[in-house]
Amino acid sequence: MTPSLPSAHDKTLYTPGPLTTSLAVKQAMLHDAGSWHWEFNALVKSIRDRIVALACLDPATGWEAILLQGSGTFGVEAVLTSVVPTTGKVLVLSNGAYGERALQMLQHHRTHHLALRTPEDTVPDLAALDATLSGDPSISHVVAIHCETTTGILNPIARIGPVVKRHNRVFIVDAMSSFGAIPIDFAASGIDYLISSANKCIEGVPGFSFVLCRRPDLEATAGSARVLSLDLLGQLRGFDKNGQFRYTPPTHSVLAFDQALRELEQEGGPSGRGARYRRNHEVLLAGMKRIGFRSYLPHPVQSYIITSFLFPPDPSFTFEDLYRRLSDKGHIIYPGKISQADTFRIGSIGRIFESDVRALLAAVADSVAEMNLHLPPVT
Ligand SMILES: *Cc1c(COP(=O)(O)O)cnc(C)c1O
Repeated sequence: MTPSLPSAHDKTLYTPGPLTTSLAVKQAMLHDAGSWHWEFNALVKSIRDRIVALACLDPATGWEAILLQGSGTFGVEAVLTSVVPTTGKVLVLSNGAYGERALQMLQHHRTHHLALRTPEDTVPDLAALDATLSGDPSISHVVAIHCETTTGILNPIARIGPVVKRHNRVFIVDAMSSFGAIPIDFAASGIDYLISSANKCIEGVPGFSFVLCRRPDLEATAGSARVLSLDLLGQLRGFDKNGQFRYTPPTHSVLAFDQALRELEQEGGPSGRGARYRRNHEVLLAGMKRIGFRSYLPHPVQSYIITSFLFPPDPSFTFEDLYRRLSDKGHIIYPGKISQADTFRIGSIGRIFESDVRALLAAVADSVAEMNLHLPPVT
């Protein structure tokens, strides 16, 4: 099948990224940009500055946004392989697949590490964190996942960070699926390194991740990087030297990101965007309950980014059947990733609005009827 040209009529993605993007974001890619040309380098510089501004950080205090080729995972791996010395030890607060992926990286790179796990529907245990840090002075860095996209649980980084800082350790936050739509107070959360990517709440397209950190902190890690292409300080020095990515930049995603940032700025930044996503989530949750689907997470820890729904108890339900019927109606949902329950996921992020969510809900109700499922509403 020939993929259709950029249009506003692709199937709508209710996924955690890549997401549905605006037509203008797609159109921004219809150019060939010279990767070393001053116009492109000026655009990269402007994007780096606007990410710092979006985070409400003061560049005068050394904050930098470092773009790095690759998906979000590459950004996390860049931080973990660049800033942790061989003598370091990393504690990962894990309650889902992305916490586990960080652990997998540390294992791969033979970096000393430790996991502090909680169940997938439970936020990290702050008392256990405090005790672990007290008991093990060799722990140098702590990693937390802000929105654990596995379930949609929102981990309280503003309460985790102060514990980490009280013990004087470096705090690394994977904010892949939250940055840009959930306001983050860097100072209150004691964040030293934050990682996000182009194709989640900023509503750009895949191609690069970015890391926010203070230049003096990163410079103090000189000599620690284990992977050349993921060397974060090397990447920053490349931008310093000539404004360029060290290796071939994802030119088209950078062009798309510029437009995506403009749309985010026009929407009122993270709080404006967060308000739209929250509305999407609330309409989704209420509608799904009426149809008979129960959400996995308890309400207080549920983010408005993505929602996990339990498979209904009706034996004739299969996810594949529902997925196919929704796809035929123009809506793409997402399989579950939870190890502890059978679920599927529906995202509230991307260029989607309440009207899209309502169209999805109508399609879910029709599909449930076609599948002959008899689901009592969830109260
Ligand atoms: C999406 C995501 C990542 C990175 O995923 P990629 O597929 O490599 O972009 C990492 N952490 C979280 C929390 C995510 O949602």
